[in-house]
This record gives sequence, structure tokens and C-alpha cells, in this order.
Amino acid sequence: MTAAASPLVEALVRRIRADGPLTVADYMAEALGHPEHGYYATRDPFGAAGDFVTAPEVSQMFGELVGLWALFNWMATGGPVPFNFAELGPGRGTLLADALRAARIRPAFLDAMRLHLVETSPTLRDRQQELLLPLTAGLEPPEWHDALSDLPDGPLFLIANEFFDALPVHQYERTPAGWRERAVGFDATTGRLHWQHVPAGATLGLLDPGQRALPVGSIVEVAPAALIHAAEIGQRIVQHGGATLIVDYGASVPTGVPTFQAVRRHLRHDPLDTPGEADLTAHIDFGAIARAAGETGARVWGPIPQRVLLERLGIRERAVQLGENATAEQKADIEAALVRLLDATQMGNLFKAMAITAGDAPPPGFAADEHDMPSRPKRDIEP
Ligand code: SAH
Repeated sequence: MTAAASPLVEALVRRIRADGPLTVADYMAEALGHPEHGYYATRDPFGAAGDFVTAPEVSQMFGELVGLWALFNWMATGGPVPFNFAELGPGRGTLLADALRAARIRPAFLDAMRLHLVETSPTLRDRQQELLLPLTAGLEPPEWHDALSDLPDGPLFLIANEFFDALPVHQYERTPAGWRERAVGFDATTGRLHWQHVPAGATLGLLDPGQRALPVGSIVEVAPAALIHAAEIGQRIVQHGGATLIVDYGASVPTGVPTFQAVRRHLRHDPLDTPGEADLTAHIDFGAIARAAGETGARVWGPIPQRVLLERLGIRERAVQLGENATAEQKADIEAALVRLLDATQMGNLFKAMAITAGDAPPPGFAADEHDMPSRPKRDIEP
């Protein structure tokens, strides 16, 4: 190890020496979530001066529409009192702040709301508190949790924007000798982390038939943590009612091309270089998430492109309305935000939205888009 190795690299190398190479999932979990030196523990990564920009940071319109989406679903399910409004990985809290502002059109929603934030980063928790405590004065105070499983029972309206892509993935490569797991080892002669293969672990069993059929040379990803989250969301919604909106990037069909990546200062980065200083993500597998949620009996809608969701929810109308009182500079910002959020070459197509509900009615924005899940039990057939 070089003398300049960071404390996180030192911790990773100690673990590799003791336990052997780290699966991609373990590497990702440590690099992002190490309580002292992990990426999210040590910084606010958002914005022009950070590493990446998310949709709620692009424009207030995103959080407003998501807030109205939650409000509509609450009303459509009979306006339960009280209910849990939760976000997984709320970042700076911007989405929730915009959502709560928009939801003021129905004060009863805010009065019945118990706000829950699932966030592991102490730095981001501070940011969220600063922003949200003033906005929730006079309401039930928000609560912070380490994990989805810590949320109290009750009707659940849940948002997850760019959360699932941060959950750890395993990578399996189809070699001429069969499936091998890709792992991160340490080469003592060069003093660097490097890729190697280890025998396939138990999560190989999570590969679906489409992934198994891919040719030699393919690399596939499975995310047990994402499946556990999806199943828990489905279960809670089936049991207590509610609706969930997941927005993230990914495909519905396996491609055999790995998507685990590092981004630093808005540029692609070698994921094994400077762990803890670059964001690590993987595309999410919407098909697998839909199956995990659907197996609980929940209804799954989408994925549909982010552009389609936002246009159906009225983003263009909202932009016109905002433009009416705006300066020329603000108008240009609104136009730029629309392009950023909707354009197929920007976030409009790669980002997709999926909804999980309990009832038969499609949630706003998902008119005829029930997820095509052949294995879903046919609930409408009489026994
Ligand atoms: N939703 C926000 C932030 C996305 S970045 C936005 O759209 O701007 C991912 C967020 O998830 C960060 O807040 C990060 O700290 C949090 N996070 C990552 N892994 C987590 C985990 N396992 N449990 C809880 N929060 C997590």
C-alpha cells in the first residue's frame, strides 16, 4: 500500500487481507456507507460544486409534482389519518421541501402527515433538518431513521428518487468455465486495488432466466438489498395501504453489460480509484424490483420514462405558470430545467418511474401502464 493511501483504502485493504477479496456489493457498501470515511458520511455531494445533480436539485417543479402525486394518492385512498409520508435517501431534503409547499393546498394532508426520512448520512441529515424543521413548524415533527424497516406501521406514501441506485450490487461474469463473481482484491506488489474473480456466491441464485441465457463474456448485476426494499414496500402497502413512487435510472431487460460506475465532479471515474471520494452507483433492475414487490400482492405500475410521468403530471403547465411571474433570467432557467428533466438525451428517457399501490386504480401518471408481470397471481379470477 502506498504511503498516501486514504483511511478508507487502509480499512478496505485490512478487510481484504483478513477475509479475502470483497464482492462488488461489499465494496460498494463500504465505499458509500463506511460510518466515518464513506462517501455519503463525509460530504454533501450535490450541485455544480459537487459530484452530481439530481432532478429535485434541477428544479422545484420536480418535488412539487411528486408532492401532488402523494397528495392525490392519499385522497384517492380515502385520506387516512394519520399516515406516514416517507422518503428514502432524501439528499438535501429539497424534494420534500418542494413537495410540502405544494401540498399546502390541502392543509388536512399536512395535519394528518407523519413525516419520516430514511437517511444514513449524518452530514445529509443535518442539511435535511435545516431545511425541513422550519417548514414543518406547527406540524408533527419529522423523524429520521436508519432503515426502511424502522418505519412505524400505517398507511405509507413513499418516495425514492435516486435511492435504489445506491444500493449494493453483486456482479457475475459468465466465463467459459461458468459463472464467477467479480470481486475487488489487493495487489501488494503494485499497492493497488484490482479486479479478480471469486467462486460464485449464494446470490447467483437471484439471476433470472434472461440473465442466465446471456453469452460468455456477459456481466450481470443482482441487488439483493433492492429486492428486500421492494418486497418490504409491497408488504407494507398491501397491509396498510398507500402508494410508492420510485424514480431512478435503469433498464427493464438484462443487457449483459455492467453498469456499476463511479462519478466524481460530474465525470466518469475508475470505481477502484479513490473509494469514498466518488459516488458509486449501478443501474436498477426495474423488472426484478417489480417482481419482488408484485409477489407481495401489491400492484406495480411502469416503468415509464421520467419524461412521460412529468408531462402527464403537468410539468409543462406548471412551467408556464411559473414563467408568468418570472424575470427573463428565471424564464431561461425554467426552460433549461424542462430540457434537463425531459429531453431524451438528458434525464427524460434514462430515468424511469415505477409505482407500487394496493388498489386497482392506476396512480396519477400511470394510466394504462400496469407492469407486465406474467407470473403475477391472477387475483381477479374466482377460486
Ligand atoms: N433523493 C435525493 C438524494 C439521492 S442520493 C435526491 O434526489 O436529490 C442518495 C441518497 O440516499 C443520499 O441521501 C444518501 O445519503 C442516501 N443513502 C444511500 N444509501 C443509503 C442507505 N442504505 N440507507 C439510507 N440512505 C441511504
